[in-house]
Amino acid sequence: MSVVIGGVEPFTTVDFPGRLAAVFFCLGCTWRCPYCHNPELQPFSGMPVVEWDKIVEFLESRKKLLDGIVFSGGEPLWQDGLADAMKQVKAMGFDVGLHTAGADAARLEKVLPLVDWIGFDIKVPFEFYDRRIPNAKGEEALKSLRAILKSGVEFEARTTLDPRLISVSELRELAHMIADAGVKTYALQEYRPHPTHETPPSAEDISAFFRDKALLSELNDLFSNFIVRRA
Ligand code: SF4
Repeated sequence: MSVVIGGVEPFTTVDFPGRLAAVFFCLGCTWRCPYCHNPELQPFSGMPVVEWDKIVEFLESRKKLLDGIVFSGGEPLWQDGLADAMKQVKAMGFDVGLHTAGADAARLEKVLPLVDWIGFDIKVPFEFYDRRIPNAKGEEALKSLRAILKSGVEFEARTTLDPRLISVSELRELAHMIADAGVKTYALQEYRPHPTHETPPSAEDISAFFRDKALLSELNDLFSNFIVRRA
């Protein structure tokens, strides 16, 4: 199985809505979001990995205890064996969740029929991806969003608010764009500093989005389900 798992969270109630789940953290991501909270998962190799045999043993032992498995990362879409791994997980009776930024729209389209729920990260307005995030591709992310919308798979769009990457007016523009496109569930996530982050924003700048009541009220009106997640 060519899915490289760098770690497992054996139990979560928050990463897959409505399910008791475990999270498999796939190794590898080529993008370099300055707020990445799992930078140790960015390299594709050189980190300890959990062999697939151990993953299967884990799945066997959790058959009656968990409802679902979330493939997270890193960026799971870089994994050649993602579809096969999801098929195996599904065949063992688990629902499949996916956390992704949509870095490879073609692979996403391939796995969509296997996925029961997606947490889809939207970083900034799509036209700014390539300029603001090293190696990121806005066109690919937008294609991925369109594919998810077309598929009808349940999903949450979410944006981590790093004031170095996005302004209040850009967030407003992004929220209107995705609401118009058909996104129903949207979450704002507060930036959390990580020891590896260079020149993190100030606490005041981080919280500015959440102090802006007019902004939050406007976004609340745009989506059937609007979620604010403070760190
Ligand atoms: S896409 Fe995700 S894993 Fe990759 S750098 Fe950005 S936050 Fe980190």
